[in-house]
Amino acid sequence: MARTMRRAVVRGAFRAGLFHFLWATRKRLGAPGRFLILAYHRIGWPGHSGAPGCVSPALFAAHLRLLRRYFAVVSLDRLCEALAAGTLPHADAVAVTLDDGYADAFSAAYPILRAHRIPATIFLPTRFIDDAAPLWWDRVAFLVAAGSTVTRSADPNNRFRRAWLLELPDSAYPAAVRAGLRRAFAGSASALAGVIAALKSMPHATATGLVDDLTERLRCLGIAVDQRAEALTWDQARIMADSGLIDFGAHTVTHAILTRMPPEQAEAEVRESRRVIEARLGRTVRHFAYPNGRHADYSPAIQTLVRAAGYASAATSVPGANRGPHDLFALRRLTVGDEPAAVLALRLTVLSSRWVP
Ligand SMILES: [Zn+2]
Repeated sequence: MARTMRRAVVRGAFRAGLFHFLWATRKRLGAPGRFLILAYHRIGWPGHSGAPGCVSPALFAAHLRLLRRYFAVVSLDRLCEALAAGTLPHADAVAVTLDDGYADAFSAAYPILRAHRIPATIFLPTRFIDDAAPLWWDRVAFLVAAGSTVTRSADPNNRFRRAWLLELPDSAYPAAVRAGLRRAFAGSASALAGVIAALKSMPHATATGLVDDLTERLRCLGIAVDQRAEALTWDQARIMADSGLIDFGAHTVTHAILTRMPPEQAEAEVRESRRVIEARLGRTVRHFAYPNGRHADYSPAIQTLVRAAGYASAATSVPGANRGPHDLFALRRLTVGDEPAAVLALRLTVLSSRWVP
């Protein structure tokens, strides 16, 4: 309720011209040479499993109108070139990126980007596109959805399956995963995020092994699990690349968190994803994005191997503005969710202020 009220107030203020006042202030007080990179994930209608921050097409269009009107929107590639050469194009430059390569990047985001003539870089985990199998956190969401359908069912034939899902009696899952899964199967909407966070904190092979194990257990219980991948196809990627508006970057092969695997596997993820995109699209891949992208998800050693693999930049999910001499292999990005354009405007104004480090 408080959130709805807050949003209504911000929206009202936006309409009343507060943003124009803030913008004029920002023009005077904004730090020169700063630039912002926005990171979107899903563009579509809410209801996608595991996509709480999904941005509707109408809202995405409103965000892009805002960028067009008040910022100098440039491609990530151009931004990085200018940064390396010390010739940043504008003090208020913004680049748009989309992570993970879901099909809605083509069906929903691309037409809107094209209509507003806004360039974007899409970061692809290549096996997602090659195999069209769901990304591991979507698999967890699908497992939980299938399990909670059974626990909510009044059918007496489900008694054993319901008891198993709510107890997880013979599983060897770590305590945090087990507790979260029980709550998720019992119908807690918030528990799913906790399960995914607990899995992200584990070695990649252990986490995906647990997801495989749970998939097998539900299969043995006769519970049908959704396996929709909702991935882009390479043909769709080619159409977007041919438009000249969309550039593709690498986001590993399996979307593994690189600090949670042996260094030689991390290196293979970094190099192979670049090779696959270049082979499929016939274009040079210059940019990389660390999966998950928080401070704990990359390291100086990982940055070194990304640079050695031939990339020109690497983007994180660490929020904040970038400055002229900022490290190209730890670019900060602002993750954008389903916030009204006015809220996004305020965030961008604050971030580009000289008082914010
Ligand atoms: Zn990602």
